[in-house]
Amino acid sequence: MPKLNENYLNLKENYLFAEIADRVNTYTAANPEKKVIRLGIGDVTLPIVSEAIAQFHEGVDELASAKTFKGYGPYEGYAFLREAIVSYYARNGICITADEVFVSDGAKSDTGNITDLFGKDNAILIPDPVYPVYVDTNIMDGRSISYMDATIENDFLPMPDHNIHADIIYLCSPNNPTGAAYNKQQLKEWVDYALKNDAIILYDSAYECFITDETLPRSIFCIENARNCAIEFCSLSKTAGFTGTRCGYTIIPKDLKYTSSNGAQLSLNALWYRRQATKFNGVSYIVQKGAAAVFSEKGMAQCKENIKYYQENARIISAGLAKKGIRYYGGVNSPYIWFECPNNMDSWNFFDYLLNNAQVVGTPGAGFGKNGQKFFRLTSFGNHENTIEAMERIDKLF
Ligand code: PLP
Repeated sequence: MPKLNENYLNLKENYLFAEIADRVNTYTAANPEKKVIRLGIGDVTLPIVSEAIAQFHEGVDELASAKTFKGYGPYEGYAFLREAIVSYYARNGICITADEVFVSDGAKSDTGNITDLFGKDNAILIPDPVYPVYVDTNIMDGRSISYMDATIENDFLPMPDHNIHADIIYLCSPNNPTGAAYNKQQLKEWVDYALKNDAIILYDSAYECFITDETLPRSIFCIENARNCAIEFCSLSKTAGFTGTRCGYTIIPKDLKYTSSNGAQLSLNALWYRRQATKFNGVSYIVQKGAAAVFSEKGMAQCKENIKYYQENARIISAGLAKKGIRYYGGVNSPYIWFECPNNMDSWNFFDYLLNNAQVVGTPGAGFGKNGQKFFRLTSFGNHENTIEAMERIDKLF
């Protein structure tokens, strides 16, 4: 009989968004006449920008001809896309090289898969609340996790505690679910802590394109020496509407080296290449062609228009909550609005209350950690009409 990975027994029974989908499906099956508005899962609603769509079409045509057909691509992604990413970073004043970029099928996969590179006995530090993937993937591997509290008191931006040792630190900025974003000084403190403790920062910048405050960092690599202590994960999901199409990238600087138990210097860039070459056969050529168009000036300008649309939704949600006297956070440099559940309600109770009485779906904060117990997340990724209607319904509720 196979021995199973019993670490799975330590996971919550359901992935957060699967639990939400179950509850919504049960409700809609019982109430088919009710219009449910979904502002829960962070999925986009606007179509992919035309610059990328044109390249998808061209990619399809290339595959139709023997002369231009492409089979397996490079494990790390096509050079044309990696170079487009390098020039996007350069436009933001950050210097990386194409051989530090690994194209992926999304930041979820890579933030989960990266644990392959690390031993089981690392001290892991993860903010609470947090994107659940960081926690669950470490539990799957049997690692124990220390949590750092992200609360109203620290603006949901936990800072290093020099009395605690960590080997691996997860940071997500702008943050899912709280919408908080680190400034440069705060990120520098994290980089300094990581260098002092010989730790690594796993930095998820999946929402960097929502940053409107020019002083905020879009990448950890704008902090000096971060190349010696950080890996960055990013995604085209929210930047360009690739949630279904799937494309992201991970940047592993060549400078990132750690000493193994036999004294050898190991490059994480080389280890990740080795890992990807074994377990990953790349993202489709068509998708990579479309992704490269996203990083062109024209493609990015189109993406920014879509982001503005979502930012207007965030404004509508924020204004609606403010009107009800509900304290909210985020929604400015982030697509997420995070707020305390009214009347001191528990977040799953508030989820059910909102679904049953207003047919609005949000995300209960408890799904992101114990500090989310009394909080709720709404996303700006719906369409304007639904967002306005959802806030009107909430307005009438209490
Ligand atoms: N990282 C964070 C913080 C997210 O919130 C999400 C998706 O919601 C992802 C990564 C997943 O990105 P992708 O769609 O590229 O897998």
